[in-house]
Amino acid sequence: MSAERTNWAGNLTYAATRVHTPGTVQELQDLVARSDRIRALGSRHSFSDVADTTAELVSLAGLPSHIEVDRAHRTVTVAAGLRYGDLATQLQRKGWALHNLGSLPHISVAGAVATGTHGSGDGNGNLATAVSAVQLVGGDGELVTLRRGEPDFDGAVVALGALGVVVSLTLDLEPAFEVRQVVYDDLALSTAAERFDDIFATAYSVSIFTDWASGTALSWVKHRVSESDDWTPEPSWMGATLADGPRHPVPGMPAEFCTEQLGVPGPWYDRLPHFRLEFTPSSGEELQSEYLVPREHAVEAFGAVAKLADRIAPVLHISEIRTVAADDLWLSSSYGRDVAGFHFTWKKDPDGVRPVMAEIERALAPYDVRPHWGKLFTVDSAQVRERYPRLDDFRRLRADYDPDDTFGNDFLDRYVG
Ligand SMILES: Cc1cc2nc3c(=O)[nH]c(=O)nc-3n(C[C@H](O)[C@H](O)[C@H](O)COP(=O)(O)OP(=O)(O)OC[C@H]3O[C@@H](n4cnc5c(N)ncnc54)[C@H](O)[C@@H]3O)c2cc1C
Repeated sequence: MSAERTNWAGNLTYAATRVHTPGTVQELQDLVARSDRIRALGSRHSFSDVADTTAELVSLAGLPSHIEVDRAHRTVTVAAGLRYGDLATQLQRKGWALHNLGSLPHISVAGAVATGTHGSGDGNGNLATAVSAVQLVGGDGELVTLRRGEPDFDGAVVALGALGVVVSLTLDLEPAFEVRQVVYDDLALSTAAERFDDIFATAYSVSIFTDWASGTALSWVKHRVSESDDWTPEPSWMGATLADGPRHPVPGMPAEFCTEQLGVPGPWYDRLPHFRLEFTPSSGEELQSEYLVPREHAVEAFGAVAKLADRIAPVLHISEIRTVAADDLWLSSSYGRDVAGFHFTWKKDPDGVRPVMAEIERALAPYDVRPHWGKLFTVDSAQVRERYPRLDDFRRLRADYDPDDTFGNDFLDRYVG
């Protein structure tokens, strides 16, 4: 049994009676076959209780961490428990890349895919959009593979662990590429609102970080280097000033935790995440929430959140705004529409944060917002369900793939039903 009984942030102690770590896929299959109730656990980075259960958990950290590149089809099949950072360095050595990464390379591939984890970029779908096949252990212990193009596939990728324990995922690849990352200081929030679309269209991936109260933002602009590249960062952009040294998104935190900036070209995997694999990321003691708003409402939503600056700032480390391209994955927060993500890294003060989260949720309610499954939210479960047009199809899928409710938990009961 593993000693890991809390999530990464320590805000959740898993209610599970046991955490198993099988050493082979066969052991995992036997375990699932004899369990009445069991759920997969990834790298424990979710803040919500999406992974938790009062029964048993199974971690794939003990399974072999193989990766297999198929050059002809430009895909890689990876062990589901592998961390993105470890996968990325192996892909780079072989000359390949993924289209995007989240801000943190320490998160497991299966766990990230299961909740629709995303990076930024107007043209970049979330990380789950790279998945072309899912192999999972079903409730009877048998292996099942679902492939892109099959009728159920779009429901089986962002699946919150509800259909089984995923043992491997096949992901689309592209040839390795380089990225140049620069930071701009002091983007006025009024400019961010007025020129929202221009700002996010500036580069392959753009994030803006603000505390809302200062009236300004730091902008992280990640430019994909092309062969005929003549890009040089402007000293001034959107009224903001090119940073004269490396920055950390959270004021006062050391920039050495962050991936290289100042426009120095480097491999995709060492620029697209904000944080380096070898450092403990972010600010450590934190909680997170994120709300994904359809792009057509992004500017109004921005204004609605900005009005709450005085309520938000005292309990906030930092906010990040990103964009994500639409996809077809039923439970994805960007299903059917391009979105802007309004993310909040909170101080670890659950009682102080909860009412502020609720105020933000009320302010964003008119905009058909979907909360990030892996982060904290207080949105009423009926409202969450209304915001997923393919929820009935997902319920049918659950009934087909998990008729005995082997992989159920309270979270699924609340938000999926
Ligand atoms: C510091 C930090 C930075 C973050 N940055 C980002 C970001 O940039 N973008 C973003 O969108 N999110 C981000 N997140 C949120 C994070 O990506 C999600 O919560 C993600 O789901 C965590 O993955 P995990 O491997 O830790 O899974 P867990 O939290 O352990 O589990 C999450 C879900 O995945 C399921 N799951 C895990 N493994 C399997 C499996 N093998 N088979 C089936 N289901 C499985 C679990 O059952 C559960 O439902 C961040 C979180 C932290 C702590």
